[in-house]
Amino acid sequence: MSTVLNEVIAANQEYSTSFGEKANLALPPARRFAVLTCMDARLDPAKFAGLREGDAHVIRNAGGRASDDAIRSLVISYKLLGTREFFVIHHTNCGMEFFTNEVMRGLLSNSLETAELGASGFRDIGKGPGSRAGEFIEWLTIPDQKQAVIDDVLRIRTHPLVPKSIPIYGYIYDVKSGKLIEVEGAAKAGAAS
Ligand code: ZN
Repeated sequence: MSTVLNEVIAANQEYSTSFGEKANLALPPARRFAVLTCMDARLDPAKFAGLREGDAHVIRNAGGRASDDAIRSLVISYKLLGTREFFVIHHTNCGMEFFTNEVMRGLLSNSLETAELGASGFRDIGKGPGSRAGEFIEWLTIPDQKQAVIDDVLRIRTHPLVPKSIPIYGYIYDVKSGKLIEVEGAAKAGAAS
C-alpha cells in the first residue's frame, strides 16, 4: 500500500475515534453560507475562515473559478440546502496565473508526465506521448488576479439561477500572511438587491 494511503487511513481512524456529537450534524450548513475557493494545498478554509464541521459549504477547484460546475454546486447549496451568502476567495501566488490555455494544451500534447515550474513558467521535462484532448478544455486560467475575482463574482451575480438576494463577497487570501484581502469593486459587483 502507498505511504499516503496508509497515512490517510491511519489519520481517519484517529479522527473517527473522537467523532462524538458530529454524528448528529444536520445536512444543511448551520451558518448558511458557501465558499468558492482554490484547491491550493496551502489554503485551509476551515482554519482561515473559522469553520467547523457542519458550518458551511466549501466548493473547491483549480483557481476557485466560477465554472459551470462551481455554479451547479452553488445553486444546489442555496436552493436545496439554504445558504444565503456566497464568498469567492482566490489567493496570491495561484498556479493558475502561471499558464494559459495555449501553454496547458501544448504541455499536454507533449507529455502526460508532470511539468516543471521554472522562472519562465511551466515546461515539459517528461517523455511523450501526450494527448491533444486538452484542446477541448477551457482551463480558466488567471491572467489578472483581481479581475478574475470580479469576473467570478459577476458571473455568479448575473447567473439566471442565482437569486438577487444572495450577497457575493470577493476576496484574495494572502499566502504570505494568511489574511483575507477584499478585492476593490467586488462588494459592489456582488451586492444583493
Ligand atoms: Zn490557486
